[in-house]
Amino acid sequence: MTLPLAKLPPSQLAAVRMLATDIDGTMTVNGRISLEVLHTWAIADALGLRVLLVTGRSAGEALGLARYLPHARWAVAENGARLLIPDQPPELLVPPRPTEHLHDVAQQIARDQPLRLTADAFARVGDLAFERDGRTDAEVLELQRRAAEQGVHLIWSSVHIHLSTHQPDKGAAVLKIAERWDVAPEAIATIGDSHNDEGLWQAQRFGVTVGTAEVAALDLRHPPAWRTAAYGGSGWCELVQAWISLQKN
Ligand SMILES: [Mg+2]
Repeated sequence: MTLPLAKLPPSQLAAVRMLATDIDGTMTVNGRISLEVLHTWAIADALGLRVLLVTGRSAGEALGLARYLPHARWAVAENGARLLIPDQPPELLVPPRPTEHLHDVAQQIARDQPLRLTADAFARVGDLAFERDGRTDAEVLELQRRAAEQGVHLIWSSVHIHLSTHQPDKGAAVLKIAERWDVAPEAIATIGDSHNDEGLWQAQRFGVTVGTAEVAALDLRHPPAWRTAAYGGSGWCELVQAWISLQKN
């Protein structure tokens, strides 16, 4: 069950040292990272909070963010498939993608409304992604059922639909990076807004799992333990500001 973030015991949040965060719908307001998010991030960074970007978007976009956002370090892209560290070659965290097979499956499962490849396909190798194009959750669930019949995983976010033969798992990637950063899983908070963030919310994996207010409307297999009152980037600030206020005490 997901409870309001306001009920999270302060000692649990105060112990957090790393935040693994989704980007779209979680740090954004109307599709852009807000100045309020950047400002809040700067304060938290100065107090020692390490932020790891974990997005479903392509390695190309994630690398740009890791390089240019003022307090970013590394980024995980393509729903846990690739790790981007500026000035180092991208690391593939999952088995290589069987591209032709995934194209075939995409064609077979969506004959009525063909899936449209994302424009970022040139910068993506971990999975094959398509525009969601306004499909409802029920419509995407039907696609997921058909993909599963062919042994292919299908997950989705507010913007994209992803196909892969490996189980997409943002949380598994976060655990690998946390080990390199020497951060214990109990000291990690995670935050996301959509179905492709479920790996970040899996029970017993992380100290504090949070969804933005958007998650109240979702039917999730792995719901977060806590939910912000605010939506999107404002929800992100709500969580990080709560953490900041505890560090100052
Ligand atoms: Mg999202």
